[in-house]
Amino acid sequence: MKENIEIVRNIFIILFSIISLAAFSSGNDLIFKMFSSAGTNTYIIGKGKEAVIIDAGGNTKQMLDYIKQNGLTIQYIILTHGHDDHFKELPKLTPVLKCKTAIHQYDFKSLAYVKIYKADLLLKGGEVLELCGLKFEIIHTPGHTGGGICIKVGNKLFSGDTLFFETIGNTVSKSSSYEKLIASIKEKLLILDDKTEVYPGHGGSTTIGHERTFNGFLK
Ligand SMILES: [Zn+2]
Repeated sequence: MKENIEIVRNIFIILFSIISLAAFSSGNDLIFKMFSSAGTNTYIIGKGKEAVIIDAGGNTKQMLDYIKQNGLTIQYIILTHGHDDHFKELPKLTPVLKCKTAIHQYDFKSLAYVKIYKADLLLKGGEVLELCGLKFEIIHTPGHTGGGICIKVGNKLFSGDTLFFETIGNTVSKSSSYEKLIASIKEKLLILDDKTEVYPGHGGSTTIGHERTFNGFLK
């Protein structure tokens, strides 16, 4: 009797594995990967075979290999802000990937640093871009730069140089403002659910709940 129960249990485990595998290979699974170079993070997020790149800060060869190996089509590169450590690889990526670029209108002119004088989409904040089966909510969070944005995709927030693990972005640029940065974080990010995962432009990930409790700048 005990043996029969064991056999039935094993059959269920095998059946469950087959169903899970079928779901996994249905082409609708989430793509989420981080590439780091010299401390700057670039992310790929998408669904199935289509994806969006957030920032273009480095490790380009490894990223292009990953895109090729997985047969991904990149629809957009969305830049969190106009600092060159986050967009310096753009001239190497757009011609190869044939994708569009988006940046906030206030930071757009900084792309001239890499001889880029046009973007396909100038963001204002408040847009919800529907790309690769996902919704990309653009949140204008000025402070680190005038045109800094955070991008919310489901429960993931790409925070650029606005919010880091237990710290905040610097305010040393011409268009920086410490007061605006704190206001942006408190009014536009801390209103999000505690469980929202935060993926910054530098360093490791965190959550809104963790920053609410432990980030000394936000007291
Ligand atoms: Zn920056």
